Amino acid sequence: MSEVVERLRHVLPPEALVTDHDRMQSYRYDRAMFCPAGEPLAVVLARETAHVQAAVRVAAEYGVPIVPQGARSGLSGAANALDGCIVVSLEKMDKILRIEDVDRYVVTQPGVYNAVLSRAVAEHGLFYPPDPSSWEFCSIGGNLSTNSGGLCCVKYGVTTDYVLGLEVVLADGRVLRTGRKTVKGVAGYDLTKLLVGSEGTLGIITEATLALRPQTARPRTMAALFDSGVTAGEAIIEIIRSGVSLSLLEIMDRTTIAAVNDYKRMDLPTEAAAMLIAQSDAGGEAGAADIATVAKLCREHGAIECIEADDEAEGELLLEARRSALLALDELGTTMIDDVCVPRSRLADFIGATEKIATDLDITIGVLGHAGDGNMHPTVVFDAQDPEQARRAQVAFDKVMEVGLELGGTITGEHGVGVLKRDWLRQEIGPVAESVHRAIKAALDPKNLLNPGKVVT
Ligand SMILES: Cc1cc2nc3c(=O)[nH]c(=O)nc-3n(C[C@H](O)[C@H](O)[C@H](O)COP(=O)(O)OP(=O)(O)OC[C@H]3O[C@@H](n4cnc5c(N)ncnc54)[C@H](O)[C@@H]3O)c2cc1C
Repeated sequence: MSEVVERLRHVLPPEALVTDHDRMQSYRYDRAMFCPAGEPLAVVLARETAHVQAAVRVAAEYGVPIVPQGARSGLSGAANALDGCIVVSLEKMDKILRIEDVDRYVVTQPGVYNAVLSRAVAEHGLFYPPDPSSWEFCSIGGNLSTNSGGLCCVKYGVTTDYVLGLEVVLADGRVLRTGRKTVKGVAGYDLTKLLVGSEGTLGIITEATLALRPQTARPRTMAALFDSGVTAGEAIIEIIRSGVSLSLLEIMDRTTIAAVNDYKRMDLPTEAAAMLIAQSDAGGEAGAADIATVAKLCREHGAIECIEADDEAEGELLLEARRSALLALDELGTTMIDDVCVPRSRLADFIGATEKIATDLDITIGVLGHAGDGNMHPTVVFDAQDPEQARRAQVAFDKVMEVGLELGGTITGEHGVGVLKRDWLRQEIGPVAESVHRAIKAALDPKNLLNPGKVVT
């Protein structure tokens, strides 16, 4: 047994330490394909902040890398283990500590799943908007560390817009408290925002204070069918231009619809080349007017059919279809999921360019995404056993990011950089921003032990 493991045994209770080789295997990977993953030395199942501090101090003493993990639903390899590292899993720190209705915040441990937190605050008449499609199987700590988006972000924004304060274990084991519990507050540098989206490279989040909103009205949902993805993209631009305030605007192409039908045993229309799903939570007549406006705009801009959901349950089914889209495409073969976000005015161009990449490279790309944000997930589907197809898949994956940047977009709207997009990050942010990233990393983690090799190298 290594000296490091011996030391961890000394400072942690037995239930907080896993060293069994087979048990550690499931802590090696997140859900990204083609990202390297090493063999950890040990997995720490932290139950409290002190366990995280103890693990970090041992890592600092022996110069061993630390990889923080939530629920490992990430799509960039950011949570993948490194050879000889200590994985610190936050999955057992899964308690909601306090819900305040007047001050409208929740204090939570990081291991709580997004959907669990959302349901818990809903019981108090409150609403936590960030809702990644993976909400049933991703943790708040992971959401904070990747600055997750989701389906209703088109109206309500992303994770960072709801983070009031954090408790974070730093690379030397000290506990940093950032932020506030008040509506406003500008004391000092905004360390909270710096840590959100840092993918476990600057500190380990052990507690979060998250802002809440009052619950919204019952949503109204509709679907619009188009015979071309580009036409659907043009309709989205017109919807945005009109100023109508939707709480959700998603897109799925024919490949994705067919995959979802197979996966969920649904009967979504496969005759359409693309389907938009729109939702308004304005309530009452305002909600009905929003949906009527969207239907009119879609018809005027090429929709072949617009269908309003009969009731909330039918609307929820449509959302469920969209949420399961990536899992459904996974069933068709190996997938590489892009996460490009383009200015919304360039959506139609982006969809057209993605379709061209698929045709030119003779490869399947399922086009889906949070269209209202311009955040698209073109998903390359291929046979990993066929080396030539795997090569073309990698080219297609890269070309989608190239087109995204050419259109004034970003390589990642919500999934993060991890190891998958490290080289592309450099291209997007340029040498000056890269050196500032390095300086921040060096200031907070001088020994480069926190999730090294992720985001910046
Ligand atoms: C089918 C599917 C659909 C998805 N849909 C969406 C979507 O709509 N929107 C979206 O944004 N993402 C989506 N994702 C991606 C993923 O679910 C999110 O990135 C999620 O936030 C990851 O949470 P996690 O708990 O699984 O984190 P992990 O994958 O375990 O970790 C992600 C990153 O956070 C770090 N980390 C985790 N916990 C902590 C902590 N407590 N302190 C410090 N660092 C930490 C890890 O080191 C890693 O860098 C989807 C994934 C799948 C598989």
